[in-house]
Amino acid sequence: MPVYSAPLENIRFVLHDVLDVAQISNLKGLEEATPDMMDSILEEGAKICEEVFFPLNQVGDTQGCTRNDDGSVTTPEGFKEAYETFAEGGWTALACDPEYGGMGMPMVLNTVMKELICSANMSLGMYPGLSYGAYEALYKFGTDELKDLYLPKIVDGTWSGTMCLTEPHCGTDLGLIKTKATPNEDGSYAVTGTKIFISAGEHDLTENIVHLVLAKLPDAPEGAKGISLFIVPKFVPDAQGNPGERNAVSCGSIEHKMGIHGNSTCVMNFDGAQGWLVGQAHKGLRAMFAMMNDARLGVGMQGLGIGEVAYQNALAYAKDRLQMRALDGVKEPDKVADPIIVHPDVRRMLLTGKAFTEGARALAYWTGMKIDIARHHEDEAVRAEADDLVALLTPIVKAYLTDMGTETANLAIQTYGGHGYIHEWGVEQYARDGRIAQIYEGTNGIQALDLVGRKMGVGFGRLLRRFFHPVMTFIEAEQASPAMAEFVFPLAKAFAKLQQSTAMVAQKGLKDPNEAGAASVDYLRQFALVAMAFMWCKMAKAAQEKLQSDEKNHSDEFYESKLETARFFMTRMLPEADARFKMVLAGAAPLMDMDVANF
Ligand SMILES: Cc1cc2nc3c(=O)[nH]c(=O)nc-3n(C[C@H](O)[C@H](O)[C@H](O)COP(=O)(O)OP(=O)(O)OC[C@H]3O[C@@H](n4cnc5c(N)ncnc54)[C@H](O)[C@@H]3O)c2cc1C
Repeated sequence: MPVYSAPLENIRFVLHDVLDVAQISNLKGLEEATPDMMDSILEEGAKICEEVFFPLNQVGDTQGCTRNDDGSVTTPEGFKEAYETFAEGGWTALACDPEYGGMGMPMVLNTVMKELICSANMSLGMYPGLSYGAYEALYKFGTDELKDLYLPKIVDGTWSGTMCLTEPHCGTDLGLIKTKATPNEDGSYAVTGTKIFISAGEHDLTENIVHLVLAKLPDAPEGAKGISLFIVPKFVPDAQGNPGERNAVSCGSIEHKMGIHGNSTCVMNFDGAQGWLVGQAHKGLRAMFAMMNDARLGVGMQGLGIGEVAYQNALAYAKDRLQMRALDGVKEPDKVADPIIVHPDVRRMLLTGKAFTEGARALAYWTGMKIDIARHHEDEAVRAEADDLVALLTPIVKAYLTDMGTETANLAIQTYGGHGYIHEWGVEQYARDGRIAQIYEGTNGIQALDLVGRKMGVGFGRLLRRFFHPVMTFIEAEQASPAMAEFVFPLAKAFAKLQQSTAMVAQKGLKDPNEAGAASVDYLRQFALVAMAFMWCKMAKAAQEKLQSDEKNHSDEFYESKLETARFFMTRMLPEADARFKMVLAGAAPLMDMDVANF
């Protein structure tokens, strides 16, 4: 049976020792989010994830969702009760505005909770996860009337939300959507079309489902500029805000898929369903992007969550499984063989998972904290700077964390050997569940294009400077420190190459967009590795300081292990940045010269 224990000690290290999360409670509106308050919320959050969500993870995988003859969808046994416990505990309201019944807690705390939820049960966690995306879109772009009607119910978890973008002929290229919205006399719209792959499109967890749907108005311009966003409820709320008349939206079928079986992936048919415009006509993508930016960070947390639980299981197995003797002599003579954790290759696999999850945690929480600063800091310039950094880091967090989440799950399978491939051990589920995170919310290839195509050029590299400056400042401050040399030098070298490849991609990409496209995925990976190296340097610095200090939050062994893991990252993972640098320099020709007929 798989195991999971929320990594609270590691989480606290990042929040308190590395990021100094106490500064969040100085922000206007977040005064209550003191470090103690956050710690106690997380302890409760850990309990619900470990005790309520996690035991249902394999159940969800085995049973999956069922579409009934009347079009309703039944989720796996226990999901409804677990969701109710979650909503009653106020978890759907965690980071929402108190004006609508939310708890008003910071995004960084929400980010941590997302990690825990995704480790415990990604499929179940997606239901409230999508609702939060719907909350964000409505909160930012809805009229007061729409907000008053829908937000309190979404916030308290009575209603859930979806994102309906994809259609059979378009996923990435949303400019091609065919779903139509025609105006009704009462100011609402009749929405008609078919959406596919809609997560949580139909289910039995909530009394109403609120769909956020991309559609085109009759006078819409061609392409992505002609898309509008509509809210289409399953039951149209009556004047009191209770679910009223059944709307003309229904689940045509559910997909049978590789993983996340406990989450219903639906074909949704809109047959003149009544909907209301959210935001401005033809500006739907803008609103949808507001939702997607949060969702992309959330998907990144799926990668981290999956990586963490896979690593925990691989570690437990590697300490227990006895095979062969250590290369440098017997370690446990009273046993028939040594545990496989003595073997260098098994250690390589485990340390990759450990260095990834711990580094990625710091990167993701840092991004979460910057969202709080971008929203709540009283100085506009500081807010704008933080917002820039979040915009830059979002595609990196989404793509790198999900790619590496799957990689870590695969390494966990490998650590188990043949047992990893067998269903009952539970680790193969992580590779299947985590795999979709590399695809939805914009494939990771599209994240890379977002980085080089949209983010890189903004304000003549303004977004890039938001990351480059703190890295340079850190290197300058630490390069003379003998204790930090083994961490700072590799960072400085990798950073210099990132600056070179940035200049190259920017210059060549301006002349030939294929150059930017061809470089994009390798460039994103190179960037991510430098960002991880920066995080590992910060963690190493914090660990060294704490080892010298009398005020420690953790044991000396804990801090030593941070330094050892930082060493592993710098020597065994960061060198990949060099290879990616060379791939970026290779340019577009090796990819684009070949005629299609020659493939
Ligand atoms: C389980 C599951 C749940 C989902 N949940 C939702 C949901 O809740 N709501 C929703 O709206 N959608 C959802 N999706 C859909 C998902 O977001 C899309 O599948 C995804 O965006 C990719 O679109 P596509 O499948 O049409 O692939 P395509 O767009 O056809 O892409 C195919 C390949 O071509 C590449 N490609 C396309 N264009 C370019 C380009 N310009 N440059 C480089 N490469 C390119 C892509 O990266 C990809 O590798 C879900 C999908 C699944 C499988």
